[in-house]
Amino acid sequence: APPVEKYEYQAEVSRLMDLIVNSLYSNKEVFLRELISNASDALDKLRFMSVTDPELLKDAVDFDIRIQTDKDNGIIKITDTGIGMTRQELVDCLGTIAQSGTAKFLKALKDSKDAGGDNNLIGQFGVGFYSAFLVADRVVVSTRSPKSDKQYVWEGEANASSYTIREETDPEKLLPRGTCLTLYLKRDDKGFAHPERIQRLVKNYSQFVSFPIYTWQEKGFTKEVEVDEDPTEATKNEQDGKTEKKKKTKTVVEKYWDWELTNETQPIWLRNPKEVSTVEYNEFYKNTFNEYLEPLASSHFTTEGEVEFRSILYVPAVSPMGKDDLVNPKTKNIRLYVKRVFISDDFDGELFPRYLSFVKGVVDSNDLPLNVSREILQESRIVRIMRKRLVRKAFDMILGISMSENREDYEKFWDNFGKHLKLGCIEDRENHKRIAPLLRFFSSQSEAEMISLDEYVENMKPDQKDIYYIASDSVTSAKNTPFLEKILEKDLEVLFLVDPIDEVAIQNLKSYKEKNFVDISKEDLDLGDKNEEKEKEMKQEFGQTCDWIKKRLGDKVANVQISSRLSSSPCVLVSGKFGWSANMERLMKAQSV
Ligand code: ADP
Ligand code: MG
Repeated sequence: APPVEKYEYQAEVSRLMDLIVNSLYSNKEVFLRELISNASDALDKLRFMSVTDPELLKDAVDFDIRIQTDKDNGIIKITDTGIGMTRQELVDCLGTIAQSGTAKFLKALKDSKDAGGDNNLIGQFGVGFYSAFLVADRVVVSTRSPKSDKQYVWEGEANASSYTIREETDPEKLLPRGTCLTLYLKRDDKGFAHPERIQRLVKNYSQFVSFPIYTWQEKGFTKEVEVDEDPTEATKNEQDGKTEKKKKTKTVVEKYWDWELTNETQPIWLRNPKEVSTVEYNEFYKNTFNEYLEPLASSHFTTEGEVEFRSILYVPAVSPMGKDDLVNPKTKNIRLYVKRVFISDDFDGELFPRYLSFVKGVVDSNDLPLNVSREILQESRIVRIMRKRLVRKAFDMILGISMSENREDYEKFWDNFGKHLKLGCIEDRENHKRIAPLLRFFSSQSEAEMISLDEYVENMKPDQKDIYYIASDSVTSAKNTPFLEKILEKDLEVLFLVDPIDEVAIQNLKSYKEKNFVDISKEDLDLGDKNEEKEKEMKQEFGQTCDWIKKRLGDKVANVQISSRLSSSPCVLVSGKFGWSANMERLMKAQSV
């Protein structure tokens, strides 16, 4: 027999396995979702590769996933006809952690521990293949890649620091292609091998997998069988004068086992939006993107005419990227299909501007070629049109959240993705009209709750022409700036721009509903109350004082002037009309360090 080779796990894998076996007890059942999602990925990969290499399908086997259980012995077998793995891939994929999902999990676990949080993160992230060890103490993976003429068997045990790989020699176990996973369940988890339980889990967690999932089920059909005639009946018949003998039958149930289709295979985006419930959309979202929280909003639409595509978009409830990754998001948030064939989740950047990279969803086009590449996408006129429509739909969806009766929803959205929209003000002039109504700021009249620009405009004084703002590093310091004195006396509202990016965003917008944004810290602030006579008088009286002060300060200031904008403070430092605001100076300084 060919040799059995032993390998050590990469250190991270050992750590993860240890965690899985010893601390992540709750929500064990997610193992099935993880393994089915791997099977589905493997089928996706094969289908995609076969577009350019039809030879891969020469074995003429269907694309499907089959789950067979042996409840007496506590065994679950999951077989797919996907891309399989070569020997080297077994080592790379099942012995190391290179995968984003799992790496993300480890990081979240660490963050949560650092924050004193609990360990109950498995349901939130899933730990991929290794989740098999939540329920199994031995896992055997027999797999065959079309790239190799041999089939290999990977075998690992919970609590072990190594695994083995050998060649499959049992002719009974040879696969036409794909992978067969066998889980030998732990004593306390043998219940998972009940066929009805597996069926329920598949329906719960994997109903939207786009390949058929069959489970091995016991079935029965009813059958009429002949039985001996009832003697009393016979007498009755004789009394009626009838002598013919009637055959009597009885219904019995005949049992047998067979594969049963357990999921809905029509992609949800092909269905009529009127017939899909919010629950179904949310389940699809959680299944597809491995999310545990419901999305804040979803939008399902079809476009016809010039280009034809279908899409379901979602706004997530939280930002997994953290605030730092705003500029270089690597998100895999948009799954692109061409005529139902999954192509890639790597093209977000081609389908959405980066500031909207938090939007998740599926896009299925009938107009793109199956062998579409990034280069093709970048050149394509069709993609340009798709992108426009997608962006528009994304904004409609966000606007929908902002108009929801539940104000908290939008607060949540803003908290997570407000920065993204502000980046949009800077990067996407074309959509200013869509972004501006979505912005939120604190103001001199609303220090605790953010307001929209519409709310500001509604609250403007009848003769007020401009929208006033002051940039600062916090609401408290904005509130205490001397620039506000005169304005507050007049009961005008001032926006407090307290996020470093706010000021740049506002300057890019320039105006809202034909009202200009005006920085109240700039020297030419005009509140429409100039009294020329009085100013002249003041200049005469204090002109020399100003000259004297300027002389004393020298180059430290550009100019010393008499001001009409203060009411109680004796003086204030202002920025020149064409210079940077104090806040911008602060930012530029921070950047140049
Ligand atoms: P992820 O699915 O996030 O990549 P997993 O831990 O679930 O992480 O799986 C690790 C890798 O193992 C997969 O990326 C894939 O390459 C490989 N793999 C797992 N299951 C299968 C399978 N059924 N068929 C082919 N490859 C698989
Ligand atoms: Mg996986």
